[in-house]
Amino acid sequence: MGIESALPTDNVITTQIQKLINWSRRSAVWPIPFATACCGIELMATASSRYDLARFGAEVMRFSPRQADLMIVAGRVSVKMLPVLQRIYQQMTEPKWVISMGACASTGGVFDTYAVVQGIDQFVPVDVYVPGCPPRPETLIEAIMAIQRIIDEDNIPKGPDGKRAPLNIAVQPTHVVKPQPVPVTVGLS
Ligand code: SF4
Repeated sequence: MGIESALPTDNVITTQIQKLINWSRRSAVWPIPFATACCGIELMATASSRYDLARFGAEVMRFSPRQADLMIVAGRVSVKMLPVLQRIYQQMTEPKWVISMGACASTGGVFDTYAVVQGIDQFVPVDVYVPGCPPRPETLIEAIMAIQRIIDEDNIPKGPDGKRAPLNIAVQPTHVVKPQPVPVTVGLS
């Protein structure tokens, strides 16, 4: 391995065990994708070569909840799917995190119907809300980094009952609307 030849091997590093645990935990977040619709395609793009989620150590998508600590809900969730979502969340390892990706997961989006859950945070604790329809891969990466910062700072919040409280972070959209390049007139007939 190149690192042994690049660095002297008799160096000693001292640190705190908790810092080491936090560093390794935030450098190896393993997501489980709960991708049900178009947002799932952006999730796939985030993990592929152009955006390269591996730079943040979070590209190892697991399809077993017991091997995952970050659930990314990408797309609308129907009422029929809800028990499956909850079961998967319950089976994940602690400490675990949830990202609600896109308008549909966070609010039901345009699907204001009896069959679609109008916001998954009513049923599972959501840590980070990612805006957009669909969100850009950069926005999803920002959400993952927000969780990594909390892990790094060992700042996992507790609710009044002593249990882990959701982070409730909303990633702010950075898109700046440009003026219409050509004037548009809408004719009334
Ligand atoms: S938020 Fe938009 S892109 Fe994402 S699942 Fe809903 S309709 Fe599709």
